[in-house]
Amino acid sequence: MASSEGNCGGGSRPVVTRFAPSPTGFLHIGNARTGLFSWLYARHFGGKALLRIEDTDKQRSTQEAIDVILDGLDWLGLEFDGDTVFQSERAPRHTEVAEKLLAAGKAYKCFATSEELAEMREAQRAAKQPMRYDGRWRDRDPAEASAGAPFTIRIKTPEGGETVIEDAVQGRVKVDNREIDDFILLRADGSPTYMLAVVVDDMDMGCTHIIRGDDHLNNAFRQIQVIDAMQGVEDGWERPIYAHVPLIHGNDGAKLSKRHGAMGVDAYRDELGILPEALFNYLLRLGWGHGDQEEFSREEAIALFDINAVGKGPSRFDIKKLLNMNGNYIREADDARLAKLAAERIGAQADVELLTQAMPVLKTRARDMNELADGAAFLFKTRPLEMTEKAAGLLDEEARIRLSSISARLGAETHWTIEALEANLKAYAEELGLGLGKLAQPLRAALTGQTTSPGIFDVLVLLGREESLARINAQAAA
Ligand code: GLU
Repeated sequence: MASSEGNCGGGSRPVVTRFAPSPTGFLHIGNARTGLFSWLYARHFGGKALLRIEDTDKQRSTQEAIDVILDGLDWLGLEFDGDTVFQSERAPRHTEVAEKLLAAGKAYKCFATSEELAEMREAQRAAKQPMRYDGRWRDRDPAEASAGAPFTIRIKTPEGGETVIEDAVQGRVKVDNREIDDFILLRADGSPTYMLAVVVDDMDMGCTHIIRGDDHLNNAFRQIQVIDAMQGVEDGWERPIYAHVPLIHGNDGAKLSKRHGAMGVDAYRDELGILPEALFNYLLRLGWGHGDQEEFSREEAIALFDINAVGKGPSRFDIKKLLNMNGNYIREADDARLAKLAAERIGAQADVELLTQAMPVLKTRARDMNELADGAAFLFKTRPLEMTEKAAGLLDEEARIRLSSISARLGAETHWTIEALEANLKAYAEELGLGLGKLAQPLRAALTGQTTSPGIFDVLVLLGREESLARINAQAAA
């Protein structure tokens, strides 16, 4: 249950989470899921869900790439609190932290040249040692460097002991501190490294929980060094609770690639025709569950979500499941809303009112918005109807003769209702000694130009008397 003070179960501080995507041109489905988890966790505790755009790679971080992320989150219904933080704007603060660490003796200037570092790595490689900075300037007097020589600022990491993370998803994970080298905080050109920027931003944003992909677990061990080093330098540097969520794999267990559906959220919307509530629910169910409940409303998700219940193993992305779920959501969705969405796909000829009216019939069959729009297309076709090959194949001479009788019979029908039309055609089928299907097939071809459509009487009613008869007559034998 959401607590009014916004405190998390074990912690004393109000929950603050953040989602920190890099603008790479699309909102990857895996990222969207960690964004969803961060958002849900904060909402569950009545805390704050913050958004930070990690736009330090200026070449990739175009406004367009940023908009794709914002648009995708908005579409999924994940509204974040406060102002969006742009990491690139915070470089002066990142620098300030590095300089404070330097002044406090917790970081140092390293004058090693790139040639020296390459040599060092080469020697390590040859000796089959792990490649990491060897601390050569850690205790050296900077005065030994030649005047004006470029330098980086490196953090002094602990030489012994271990760093332990009680990860909310991964459990207890630890690393021997000897494995964590004195990594760079500020480059020789004065620019902050990603490792520094992330942790400074997390702390300044007051994040209590870092929920992200488990590809960042190794980074956490380094980011913690900065947090620990800032103890006594500045107030408010408290280790957050980490939750490293396993990556999504394809349904064959391999790393998710384009062929499995590793597309941007926008492609799920635009190309696959997925509804946002279906993707929301599907992503929620990837790696998290509550008994065997399949569908969760947004409110239920907020009430029930618990990061501790996210599984450690990779979850498998199954596009078929997503489509089935989407079909269920389509059937539950409001008709006028679906009509509007379908109309966008159909184009200018679509009539939203007619679509709304047809929706109860149309939506029973579709798993995605493309199928829904395709299924509705017959309503807006113009005469002469374009025929699929299969449909044209059904309209032989005999069928055309029957269509003219059908036209005469239906033309005389005073009640254009499903019941009346059904009774009428059934009577004709009986007269001919045929099953109703035999009559319905060419009739469907004439009315829709296709061999699949909603029930034939629904089609007749939706098209209305005039248009139905005109379409039948256009195919009937003269
Ligand atoms: N910007 C990083 C990414 O998109 C996430 C960094 C983080 O969550 O700490 O992978």
